[in-house]
Amino acid sequence: MVEHYTKAVVLARDPRGELDAAITLYTKDFGKVIAKAKSIRRFTSKLSGHLTPGSLTKIRIVERNGAGHQVVDALSTRVEVTEDLLRFLSFINQLAPVNMPDLQLWHELEAILENSLVDKVTYRRIIGVLGYDADEATCNNCNSKKIAYFAPRDIMFLCDSCFKGFSFKTNEIFSI
Ligand SMILES: [Zn+2]
Repeated sequence: MVEHYTKAVVLARDPRGELDAAITLYTKDFGKVIAKAKSIRRFTSKLSGHLTPGSLTKIRIVERNGAGHQVVDALSTRVEVTEDLLRFLSFINQLAPVNMPDLQLWHELEAILENSLVDKVTYRRIIGVLGYDADEATCNNCNSKKIAYFAPRDIMFLCDSCFKGFSFKTNEIFSI
């Protein structure tokens, strides 16, 4: 068993079984990690309030051979969680690879959470941090240089008029 302390942003939280949850974290030291939190859905859980999406936390995780990661302790600092921020965290969750630490991305995320400001410029910059050059990209559908949207799951750039020809759910495409 190995134990780690690191800072993390909670990207998502999904129920597992009766009382547990799978917590998707972007950590400073390990990049994106999916860790189990046991009994977090009991109302007496001390962890629960520190592991909601948008929380900026200091966590202790243990790694067991073959059994994955488990969050055993978390302490969050207050962050103003807005719809825009949750949408941004969904974007990061779709785009960031698992177990690939990236300090530059970490520092960007930390600053964005502290300032609670997400706009088109933020998305374009983050895409760049993750290695995709939006300024050199062309529309995947018509090759226009006037790109206006990015779909993280398919790594797809689109111009405004092609965007109108597709139908997307709100967390599938982002204005850049
Ligand atoms: Zn186009």
